[in-house]
Amino acid sequence: MGKLIVISGPSGVGKGTVLGIAMDRCPDLRFSVSATTRGPRPNEVDGVHYYFVTRERFEEMIAAGDFLEYDAHAANYYGTPRAQAMEKMENGHVLLDIEPKGAEQVKKNMPEAILIFIMPPSVEELERRLRGRGDTSEEQIRIRMERAIWEMDQRHWYDHVLVNDSAEACAEEILKIIADKA
Ligand code: ADP
Ligand code: 5GP
Repeated sequence: MGKLIVISGPSGVGKGTVLGIAMDRCPDLRFSVSATTRGPRPNEVDGVHYYFVTRERFEEMIAAGDFLEYDAHAANYYGTPRAQAMEKMENGHVLLDIEPKGAEQVKKNMPEAILIFIMPPSVEELERRLRGRGDTSEEQIRIRMERAIWEMDQRHWYDHVLVNDSAEACAEEILKIIADKA
């Protein structure tokens, strides 16, 4: 049975980038594909980055108890389908890219999970990255920067706090944490 690894950090900090590098370097890692009611960004593929579902479908899944954890933020629902995460853990370590409210639910329900928080080198650099991605509206940037402050305050109860200065180095640190705990 593999480990469950929770990765949090403000939107735009580079979680997707860092996890992409880590997965390229370690074939034992699986990505837990979340369900969301947010619309896809131009480069996002249904079933790869997220399962893009309607609000009605998401609420049916909540009622059916299908989520390991879920949360509503930035005007949308996001959640981890339980069955998929459990299945992937059978033959590898599973990475969950989720925000702190979901991470708190995982910590409570699965205390053996490893919780990692990724910080930006500075708030200014975070905003630059969010804006530089070029796929988020000004209104969403404002909402996400406000939320980033609250999210970064939550880092203290995570098992590890990393700074994404170099994405390569940050990915290596994650791989080392997993290897140490394996
Ligand atoms: P998240 O998944 O946390 O929302 P992304 O992985 O989409 O963040 O990264 C946001 C933007 O920041 C992207 O344009 C990405 O190329 C860039 N980025 C990621 N890591 C770094 C880094 N270490 N240094 C500079 N830019 C980075
Ligand atoms: P984005 O819209 O930029 O892809 O993600 C916004 C935020 O939602 C990020 O902080 C990301 O970690 C979080 N998120 C993505 N999937 C899930 C999930 O399944 N559950 C929870 N709780 N948060 C998620």
